[in-house]
Amino acid sequence: KDLLAIHDLHAGVEGREILKGLSLNVKKGEVHVLLGPNGSGKSTLMNVIMGHPKYQVTEGTMTFEGEDLTSMPTFERARQGLFLSFQTPEEIPGITVENMLRTAKQAVTGQKIKITAFKKELKAAMEKLQMNPEYADRYLNVGFSGGEKKRTEILQLLMLQPKLALLDETDSGLDVDAVQIVSKGVSAFHNEENACIIITHNARILSELKVDRVHVLVKGSIVAEGGAELIDEINRNGFTHLIGQAE
Ligand code: ADP
Ligand code: MG
Ligand code: MG
Repeated sequence: KDLLAIHDLHAGVEGREILKGLSLNVKKGEVHVLLGPNGSGKSTLMNVIMGHPKYQVTEGTMTFEGEDLTSMPTFERARQGLFLSFQTPEEIPGITVENMLRTAKQAVTGQKIKITAFKKELKAAMEKLQMNPEYADRYLNVGFSGGEKKRTEILQLLMLQPKLALLDETDSGLDVDAVQIVSKGVSAFHNEENACIIITHNARILSELKVDRVHVLVKGSIVAEGGAELIDEINRNGFTHLIGQAE
């Protein structure tokens, strides 16, 4: 049974079509990678799955655990277990990492969360990521290095435990350390009960993961699909030979 099922999805912004009839199925336990040149619609797809109000679905179907997503508000999608990274905010003086995580968890579960239980859970997640416990008390992203910001995002993933994590790493210009943090962190998060869709131009992000399926998006359509071997193929040959197929 599919966790996410997208069929012939057409979507766009302000009357301009960006996604042109795209189909994608993701099952529990799977890791999918989305590749494609800049401007092909990868981030748009993530935003449409999450229900960003800027984008309109004009045709096709999209379900999550069998339930129609297209008419579901964004907060409800988060409650159902969808998560879109990594747009962790700019610096927020006055809000600690712990506050932010607890607020996010309450929003997603719709329940008040007991501080002691939460602290325990947070401590365990931080140990898993080999993070210094002091970190929980720092103000969100204030003076954080690129690697520390990534750690916070991964911590968010571990604490919220979404069923489907959409990880958009495209434009982030990560250094070697941050790449390792993301790779190990996603691997710590991923299990047979959840799934990930990862957008990345950096194959090293995938080094700790077993990739099940690769989709290549060009001009709003999927032009090639395959297993992990497709990543190496594209790293060698680029997208050019696939672009003609998108017309
Ligand atoms: P990718 O993530 O593959 O680089 P995007 O999804 O960001 O591609 O963009 C695909 C196309 O849709 C681009 O031409 C981009 O300009 C356009 N687009 C995406 N989001 C918006 C938006 N919010 N407003 C206007 N145009 C958008
Ligand atoms: Mg169509
Ligand atoms: Mg993008």
